[in-house]
Amino acid sequence: MPPVIPVDPLAGPKLALSGRVVTMDKDFTVLPRGIVYIDQGSILAVQDSAAPAPPGFESVSPVATGGTLFPGLIELHNHLSYNVLQLWQVPKKFTNRDQWGRTPDYRRLVTGPMTVLGQTANLLPAVIRYVECKCLFGGVTTSQGIELFSNHGGRRYYRGIVRNVEQTDDADLPEAAAKIADIEARDTRRFLARLARQSCFLLHLSEGTDDPARDHFLALKIQGSEWAITGALTGIHCAALKADDFAVHGERNGSMVWSPFSNLLLYGATANVKEARAKGVRIALGSDWSPTGSKNLLGELKVARLASLAAGDVFSEREIVALATREAAAILKWEKRLGSIETGKRADLFIVDGATADPYAGLLKSNETSIRLVLVNGVPRFGHSDLMKKLGGAGEAVRVGGKARMVNLRAANADPVIGAITLSAARERLSDALEHLPKLARDLERKPAGPARAAALEGPPVWFLALDELAHTGMELRPRLSLPGRRPSTGPSLALRAASEPLSTILKPLTLDPLTVSDDAAFLDRIEAQTVLPSFVREGLRRLY
Ligand SMILES: [Zn+2]
Repeated sequence: MPPVIPVDPLAGPKLALSGRVVTMDKDFTVLPRGIVYIDQGSILAVQDSAAPAPPGFESVSPVATGGTLFPGLIELHNHLSYNVLQLWQVPKKFTNRDQWGRTPDYRRLVTGPMTVLGQTANLLPAVIRYVECKCLFGGVTTSQGIELFSNHGGRRYYRGIVRNVEQTDDADLPEAAAKIADIEARDTRRFLARLARQSCFLLHLSEGTDDPARDHFLALKIQGSEWAITGALTGIHCAALKADDFAVHGERNGSMVWSPFSNLLLYGATANVKEARAKGVRIALGSDWSPTGSKNLLGELKVARLASLAAGDVFSEREIVALATREAAAILKWEKRLGSIETGKRADLFIVDGATADPYAGLLKSNETSIRLVLVNGVPRFGHSDLMKKLGGAGEAVRVGGKARMVNLRAANADPVIGAITLSAARERLSDALEHLPKLARDLERKPAGPARAAALEGPPVWFLALDELAHTGMELRPRLSLPGRRPSTGPSLALRAASEPLSTILKPLTLDPLTVSDDAAFLDRIEAQTVLPSFVREGLRRLY
């Protein structure tokens, strides 16, 4: 067998970056005038700019960034492929996840368009390119994976530029799982046995505010004080949990991913993070997806701050930034390698404008246009073109909020599914496809259906997007354990959707979701028009942009 090459190999140039350094180490050290020395993808030293360069860097001139360096943002929940879609105008307040999945609007605006995009030839590279850049332009250096399936029955993750928690091929970065075999999702003891074999399991848990949503959590109880909860279980949402539930979860070292924007938009309420925190539950953040969430984690930080203030100032600005950096790394068991800017860690970082005022408050008020540079594994990926060029980077010229930027999408071991597609070509291809959705749906309806069509293909493997919840795969995104004497817990109703009228008759042309909030003149107006979203976000978010 050939050796497994990590998705992000320890390669890359010698670089030195100067600016204010917000390390996010355990003491929250900030170097007002610091230099970060990087070699082969890792941080070799972090020191005051007056200190002599470490051995080997005598001839490397530090590049003055003029900004503040932060560890790259780590996001633990995002259905990335869906991020080509625009924010949904939520029609009414829901109380659990099962309800909105059944609305006709949801099929017309979310699952229907994604079904068509996922099955149309040549769109896969465009979707991946676009949604990955959407992360990068928001300072996100780690997110969830993009799963693919092939006509030969294979399943795998896209090996991308943004780090993905589900596939690293790197022993130092143990892989998280985000899906569970349905048999293990339905049997509590099997579920517990499965948890025991994994360092981190990211599973949807209790999304909503009502008792059926809470039952997802209560059903983890085996008997007495025995629960199917371990230090690996990371519940996504946990919105229906009560204080006692968080106590149970925290005592067993369970953690959670908080997606306040998505929760507040759909349910008008979100997880009780005050209790979660008080009960020792470790918390990270995730933007969920563009149809009901933030465009990127930078945006989700702002909503987290507003939600925290509304709940009685649960997290300081610094602690909000920690949720998306050091806390997320600890949940993944990646804290020795990521989550802070320290010697020996991987060089994932981003740099924002300004180096004088409070760095954490400044970050929470930043726009995507405030981002000067993003590095993943020591490779400059996105930023001001002068900085990119000084660091030896090259790439595609792009505009963010009207400002000139450069994005470097080249990788020595790039995934073959992506090819050489540029971001601008991806944007054009997707805009065109979304504008012609009814026609594309008609074309697909004339052919045999998705998986059957894929199976019918012969020759080399052809890869398709594996879209969560659009088809039965034998894998689940959430535990489906049920309580004795109760109705089975909530979950998606795939059959209901499949039985509805043909997509070509219900789909309308759609507009591609702009890459950043800085590029989306209507975004904040759309937020203000949301009826379920509490006023502290509806009115407060604009002040943070
Ligand atoms: Zn989700």
